[in-house]
Amino acid sequence: NPPVTLSLRLIPYSENLWLLVARDVTRLLQLERMRRDFVANVSHELRTPLTVVHGYLDMLDPTEHPDWAPMLAEMQRQSQRMTQLVEDLLTLSRLESADHLANEETIAMPALLDTLRREALALSQNRHDIRVEDSAGVDLFGSHKELHSAFSNLVANAIRYTPAGGQVTVRFRKDRPERLASGVLAGRTGVVLEVADTGYGIPATHLPRITERFYRVSTSRSRESGGTGLGLSIVKHVLNLHQARLEIASEVGRGSTFSCHFGAERVRPRESLDIALP
Ligand code: ADP
Repeated sequence: NPPVTLSLRLIPYSENLWLLVARDVTRLLQLERMRRDFVANVSHELRTPLTVVHGYLDMLDPTEHPDWAPMLAEMQRQSQRMTQLVEDLLTLSRLESADHLANEETIAMPALLDTLRREALALSQNRHDIRVEDSAGVDLFGSHKELHSAFSNLVANAIRYTPAGGQVTVRFRKDRPERLASGVLAGRTGVVLEVADTGYGIPATHLPRITERFYRVSTSRSRESGGTGLGLSIVKHVLNLHQARLEIASEVGRGSTFSCHFGAERVRPRESLDIALP
């Protein structure tokens, strides 16, 4: 017989009786795997034709047909969007089917924070006040590639959903000590990477579903912003693989803070030297 996967739930029934409910989820998991494979295959197959379309579009010279210029520009913009969508779908399928991370290392946080600052400046094009604060004094242990992509997604969103003149802050700090079940404060604390903005904010009713694939608060604003609707799903999967937690605090019209909480087991002494340049 093929292996069967059971999902078990223990439900309190009365004072000294519990119910154990076992559900056969073999077929459900199989369907979920088929869905993932299908998305991954379609995305992969779309890559080549998109590269060709994109390549030829780049070769067309709008100055030869000035009346075509707006159409060419729009086709280029849309093919770029589709390429990003396919790349994000592939990233998501890869993360969904991974149960552990390859290539974990101690990540030099000062360098990563500096990269995030440069990315934010490039996206903002001087329309926002960008700040980076680093008070943690330690480094993170994890996948550099995946964490970089998760943090970049949060920074890109902060810029996208904050009108010109607003502020975007990336903060890397020690977490507050955790209170254990016994009520005692835990001895070791983790760290938090926080991306805070003074933008549009997210209505509370949307928060529980915001990390779902393609879930968007306002479709028109989000579409115009050029995102794919997959950014926060990617962030959530990357954090899960690091046993980290995403917390979102937001107020409409005031802004949002996305905090990535990493446990003490992800903290490493800082290896890199901070060299203060004049
Ligand atoms: P998108 O590509 O649409 O930005 P995401 O998964 O990154 O997709 O985000 C999902 C939705 O969450 C966005 O469409 C937007 O409505 C909302 N959102 C994400 N980040 C922010 C933010 N910093 N401020 C306000 N809304 C946000």
